[in-house]
Amino acid sequence: MTPLLQVQDLSVAYVNAKQVDTAVERVSFDIYPGEIVGFVGESGCGKSTLLQAVMRILPPPGFISGGKILFQGQDLLQLSIEEMAQHRWRKASMVFQSAMNSLNPVLTVAEQFDDTLAAHGVGDLAHRRARTEELLNLVGIPPARANAYPHELSGGMRQRVGIALALIFEPQLVVMDEPTTALDVLVQSEILQEIKKLQKKLGFAVCFVSHDLPVVAQLCDRVNVFYAGHLVERSTTQNLLQNPQHPYTRALLRSFPSIHSATLSRGIPGAPPSIGAPPPGCRFHPRCNDRLEACDRLVPELVTLGPAHHAACHLISDQLPASSPMGASSSSSSDVKK
Ligand code: SF4
Repeated sequence: MTPLLQVQDLSVAYVNAKQVDTAVERVSFDIYPGEIVGFVGESGCGKSTLLQAVMRILPPPGFISGGKILFQGQDLLQLSIEEMAQHRWRKASMVFQSAMNSLNPVLTVAEQFDDTLAAHGVGDLAHRRARTEELLNLVGIPPARANAYPHELSGGMRQRVGIALALIFEPQLVVMDEPTTALDVLVQSEILQEIKKLQKKLGFAVCFVSHDLPVVAQLCDRVNVFYAGHLVERSTTQNLLQNPQHPYTRALLRSFPSIHSATLSRGIPGAPPSIGAPPPGCRFHPRCNDRLEACDRLVPELVTLGPAHHAACHLISDQLPASSPMGASSSSSSDVKK
């Protein structure tokens, strides 16, 4: 199957008066049509920055410092601002963390849909209104609520409006940046079910960003784990939960409570490094209980552990025979869609 999105060796940096800080370094991944892929890691690990770069909506002083983003084979970094604006709503769209911040507070729901449809050349008012009602119905909001302002809706309803807006032109890819983080657990569960239902019905692919591994596990087919701007492990969700290989992934899993065991959850001591001063070698080494002698000097390469399982850790590379094909670097986009 041909990937819908191929990200190859993408790096993102922020420039300030003193230096250029690399927030995301040489990250590669693929998304296939109709799959849901999670991006997980602690706050500040670069996952949102990465997907803002994929959508080319990085706020200054952020910029893409290297790599390629191919959507259906087309290099998005070669598109003009106008071409990219068309791409963003029609082929790939985004749902943000807080709908209260992403919706315009002085426009009603109907006016926000109307603006977006009109900006993309849907000239007929009756057609725009009909499409608005259709989309609100799709996400379970009574069309009469179209005349409400964002502050008159609950958090869950606002997030549903944000999802409906993202689906306005039936894109092939929807990027969701922590869409349930600001919601309570019950509403979060409803929204996750809604995303699954819509994805099944409309067939779009999803990039789902979250710091919450159990939420990602509930929703996603595959998971990418990030730490301090590096992709450290990726696998199918089931394999990642049953057979995590990177010490950071294992620590993340241990930090969430389980309803199936009496073992208490344990946080990860310390904090992720600042992007302005990352530690040398493996960026996780100051917090890693398994670190080896080389870990504070050498950056581990992503290696292939199975058809869809990759991890970057000296512990793993040391155990792989040098001549084994499993030891081949997989930092290029080499995912295998099962
Ligand atoms: Fe720990 Fe070393 Fe692996 Fe980094 S490379 S996760 S420090 S064992």
